[in-house]
Amino acid sequence: MVEFCPKCGAMLPVGTERCTACGARTKPRVMDERSGFTWGDFVSYSFVGILFALGALLIPFVVCAMLYGIYLLLASAPPGF
Ligand SMILES: [Zn+2]
Repeated sequence: MVEFCPKCGAMLPVGTERCTACGARTKPRVMDERSGFTWGDFVSYSFVGILFALGALLIPFVVCAMLYGIYLLLASAPPGF
């Protein structure tokens, strides 16, 4: 039985923690053994949280900017158009 490195694709014996070719970790480090929650999951959840927070902050600004853009377009349009 062999495993493949997720980074470089090198063949590794099962149970190898680090790739012998590139040094990449073959298995994510588990934070919670029971749920199998890994640091990778934690980072991706945090990333999604940050994206949502940024989105919530940015959306009103984007909407205002769009409305202002439409206002400017309408204001600069020739009369009767
Ligand atoms: Zn590798």
